[in-house]
Amino acid sequence: MKKHNFSAGPSILPQEVFAKAAQGVLDLDGSGLSVLEISHRSKEFVNIHHQAKTLVKEVLNVPDNYHILFLSGGASTQFFMTALNILGDDQKAVYLDTGSWSSKAIKEARRYGQIEVIGSSKDKNYTYIPKDYEIPSDASYLHLTSNNTIFGTQFQEFPDTDIPLVCDMSSDIFSRAVDVTKFGIIYAGAQKNMGPAGTTLVIVRDDLVGQSGRDIPTILDYKTHIDKDSMFNTPPVFPIYVSMLTLKWLKGIGGVSAAAERNQAKAETLYHEIERNSLFEGVVVPEDRSKMNATFVLKDDNHLDAFLGACAEAGIVGVKGHRSVGGFRASMYNAMELDSVTALVQVMQEFEAKQ
Ligand SMILES: *Cc1c(COP(=O)(O)O)cnc(C)c1O
Repeated sequence: MKKHNFSAGPSILPQEVFAKAAQGVLDLDGSGLSVLEISHRSKEFVNIHHQAKTLVKEVLNVPDNYHILFLSGGASTQFFMTALNILGDDQKAVYLDTGSWSSKAIKEARRYGQIEVIGSSKDKNYTYIPKDYEIPSDASYLHLTSNNTIFGTQFQEFPDTDIPLVCDMSSDIFSRAVDVTKFGIIYAGAQKNMGPAGTTLVIVRDDLVGQSGRDIPTILDYKTHIDKDSMFNTPPVFPIYVSMLTLKWLKGIGGVSAAAERNQAKAETLYHEIERNSLFEGVVVPEDRSKMNATFVLKDDNHLDAFLGACAEAGIVGVKGHRSVGGFRASMYNAMELDSVTALVQVMQEFEAKQ
């Protein structure tokens, strides 16, 4: 049976990427070697790495004064690595708290400077994006989580400010066009919208590096990875390879603008049904709803297991909500086709008809 994978992460990737990655494991481009056994300094891998970087640059329109790095340690490492690298002890950074991922970033950054939370949606269990806040002009940067994977909220527009934005884009990078020039650092764990778990994309503006005045352990210093072109030590070879294949696929379908149109169509289809269907309701205020992760609940929680059962029968997997929200979460990353969303909508409609 065809599976419709709504998992939040690790998550769906294009079928053709799976096929190419499998081929690369057996025999990389006719080399007679597996991508898993070649040196990270071989011309094959240097070429893969170069392609991955070039594709990120092309697809996101990254200006020349930014570095593109593929690191390890997940987005969670960037929670502290960002502050460690660009925030001096006597400097201040401001944060927006839109749920668990940003809360974790705040907690880690507090080790390295003065952290001020200027906006939070905690009062309503993170069901909206805070909009009413002042950004102090003496802050070094403003950190935000562009899409909260757990609560299903997403910044539809980024704050207008002269200070650089530092952004965790783990769950919506490459889902739409962004103006990279507004950002000092963009980071994203690969496993939501770019590739398999194991690498983290970091895009960092050149002038921010080396400014903290701090003695940073070599492997945690962006400068190390910039100087060595992400090859200071063995990089996550396979995740970079598969990310490159996914980016190639993305470019092939028309890049982020085409992805944004697909994502808009999927999100509209699902949110329309959540609103129409008498059994369900959305969790997030309409204007802040995520196009990547839709969160919704049953008005009567007693139907929860029955609905999950109906989903499973239709090949729909990964829709159980995060424990902090309950209900359901349907993640509709770039690789998901509209017909998977339509399949979920159909189950919701049949479920309603049976009650
Ligand atoms: C999944 C996720 C993370 C955690 O990423 P890891 O790579 O597991 O550390 C951080 N932020 C956001 C927004 C996420 O969705």
